[in-house]
Amino acid sequence: MILPELRSAVPAGRVLEITTTTGCIVGCSYCPQDKFADRQRKISHSKHLSLEDFKRCLARVPASVAIGFSGYSEPWLNPHCTEMVEHAFAAGHGIRIFTTLVGMNLQDLQRLQALRLEVFMVHVFDDGTYMNSRLVGDKYRNLIRQFVGAEIPSIQFVVLGEAHPDVVDIIPAETLIHGRPVSSRGGSVDPKIVQPRQPVVGALTCVDGRQYRNVLLPNGDVTLCSMDFERRHLLGNLLRDEYAELFDGPAFREIVDRMNGADGFLLCRMCEFADANDRT
Ligand code: SF4
Repeated sequence: MILPELRSAVPAGRVLEITTTTGCIVGCSYCPQDKFADRQRKISHSKHLSLEDFKRCLARVPASVAIGFSGYSEPWLNPHCTEMVEHAFAAGHGIRIFTTLVGMNLQDLQRLQALRLEVFMVHVFDDGTYMNSRLVGDKYRNLIRQFVGAEIPSIQFVVLGEAHPDVVDIIPAETLIHGRPVSSRGGSVDPKIVQPRQPVVGALTCVDGRQYRNVLLPNGDVTLCSMDFERRHLLGNLLRDEYAELFDGPAFREIVDRMNGADGFLLCRMCEFADANDRT
């Protein structure tokens, strides 16, 4: 979840976000993870994106496209995630990481420190308001401590709400960015946590051009963006299609037509990143 105060810290440009696994034990209440997992399991039995498939998909993606390890679940729940990062870095891609650190260990930290990372955002556990505190134990505290002292120039720490009491003494207060859940993920989040917006009518613009920040799923499918937890707009499959073909096909053309005002379902209409072109 990108907060307004963090958006300026994230460079512009095309991105392919990697959802390395279906299902997520972190279970943030403002993440519609279950909706993603339900839909994805009906399509594919691949729980993890395999390293081999990741490499096959990445070979179709130009190096100018940054690779984001975030997507619809905690990336390090896939045991090959660090190797995927190293492979993408070696292939010349910019690397952006958004993680709770769940699934990581100290070896992962040492390997990541050796790379130049455009963005490294650590999502810190909250006080239990939105996240499940059972994952906050000695191992997590030690890992957070190591990351606070790590030589990763781009590292940032963010918490939605208040930080868990067991970590407040570890993260220097001035380096911890506070936010709150702000995105309904196109209306997929429980409305008791984030109220959906009024739908945008007519032509609209995605304020960050996120129609070019797409999401690779464990079976090679690519969805529109990080709001599309329910697989509403499927652009293609990188185990089959070239990267450029994702934007030449009927699915993407339909999205563009609808962003320009054509009739038909468009997730953007319910998304907080959409601005109406005609605000009069
Ligand atoms: S406006 Fe559309 S493309 Fe942009 S983030 Fe929202 S759903 Fe995605």
